[in-house]
Amino acid sequence: MGKKKKTKTEINFKTAYELWQERQNIKRLETKTPIDELIGGGIEEGEVVEFYGEYGSGKTQTALTLATRVAGELGEDVVFIDCESTFKPERVVEIAKARGLDPEKTLQKIYLIQPITVEEQMEALDQIPKNVKPKLLVVDGVTTLFREEYVGRGELAERQGLLRRFLRKLLTYVRENKIYGVITNQVYGNPESSPFLPLELRELAVGGHSLYHTIDNRIFIRKAQRGTRIARLVDSSRYPPAERPFMITDKGIEPIEK
Ligand code: ATP
Ligand code: MG
Repeated sequence: MGKKKKTKTEINFKTAYELWQERQNIKRLETKTPIDELIGGGIEEGEVVEFYGEYGSGKTQTALTLATRVAGELGEDVVFIDCESTFKPERVVEIAKARGLDPEKTLQKIYLIQPITVEEQMEALDQIPKNVKPKLLVVDGVTTLFREEYVGRGELAERQGLLRRFLRKLLTYVRENKIYGVITNQVYGNPESSPFLPLELRELAVGGHSLYHTIDNRIFIRKAQRGTRIARLVDSSRYPPAERPFMITDKGIEPIEK
């Protein structure tokens, strides 16, 4: 009754200087692609980068290039959650060979999950085998299954909530394990949608305002002249807006030769 309620939550303040010092030691994945120039030299540990754009823009090719780099060149585990069931090992073999890497060793380091329901996608992160220690986690087509399963307007709120939960789970996993996160997301020509909206509002009904501004680096990919592509960093909290062209070749994604 007269007892004072004791909180279990301890709040630890630190100075911005301490945080700055901690951040000096953060490692980056140099992707060795034009993407690096957009995001300060590469993807930071604990960070999720989103690639979005229309069909055929090069999102999956980008993801495969990064997976090959981490698995084949760095020799680290990759978990690839392929929500569109479009993953082709042959393409990884091609990219690995063109880069002088061992294709079989590369494939052996890529752990593939192909969920076919939202439920499976939600569970995938929880069920990564203990012996797999991914340094890169890819979710290709992060909203695809959500779109398929929650079709009607009446279901939008539920879909948005579940998607947000998945994303939060993903961010926590990437942060806690200090790994690199990559998600891809297709943009459809929905009149209410705009590629400039945050992920959870794009394509999803307006309303139920975003909790989700946590995906810091969003890179929009579009098709350009003569089969080239342009990657554009959109609304980053740290880096200036910028664009870099690239092309898709046997090596995956590459700078455009001068
Ligand atoms: P979606 O939203 O449909 O999944 P996406 O953005 O993932 O699209 P990608 O699969 O990454 O699209 O890119 C497809 C494009 O990549 C094709 O248009 C093709 O031109 C190019 N491409 C695929 N394989 C090769 C290859 N081996 N060599 C050169 N270009 C290729
Ligand atoms: Mg794709």
